[in-house]
Amino acid sequence: MGMRIGFGFDSHAFKAGVPLYIGGLLIEHPEGLAGHSDGDVLLHAITDALLGAVSAGDIGTFFPPSDPRWKGAASSLFLKTAMEEIKTAGYKIVNIDTCLVMMRPKIVPIAGELRERVAELLGIKPGEVGIKAKTPEGLNQDGVAVAYATVLLESLEADAGLKKYAATADVDDMDAVVESLVGVQRDLSALGRKVPAFDADDLT
Ligand SMILES: [Zn+2]
Repeated sequence: MGMRIGFGFDSHAFKAGVPLYIGGLLIEHPEGLAGHSDGDVLLHAITDALLGAVSAGDIGTFFPPSDPRWKGAASSLFLKTAMEEIKTAGYKIVNIDTCLVMMRPKIVPIAGELRERVAELLGIKPGEVGIKAKTPEGLNQDGVAVAYATVLLESLEADAGLKKYAATADVDDMDAVVESLVGVQRDLSALGRKVPAFDADDLT
């Protein structure tokens, strides 16, 4: 199965008198993020992670700050372009994980809402989006918002092939289908432990 990973980073300084956008959400705060666009640090990091995963350059390649068309632009537009790029390359998102680093505002109280908004923008489920937040302890960067993002993509072809195979297989044959796709079937119960379900609501 063809898979790709991507990584993105971004930072913006806080500035008084501009609206604060993070992850496509307008957040009530006395300061926003300075930038040529709306300064959405999280969407910029995710956009770079998506573009990087298919070796399509970065956000500056597509939307140079020197171009007046992108002045004040909504960063969801950048994200949309990156999604078109990965689709053209023949991939779709499996999941993303992100980490925001800023002193304020506190992200934890809005993390659930952020996750839903980012999932909506990416056309994936909230359980496929990780939002983590840290304060910049010892970094002396209180006036800055930083975002890191990683994405995992899988080939659309592999996904279509798997669905086609599953649709034509008898339900009783599913074990055989899985075995043929992953090689040796791993029975985790034989190891004497149950695999706990991932708790998507745990945001600590
Ligand atoms: Zn940016």
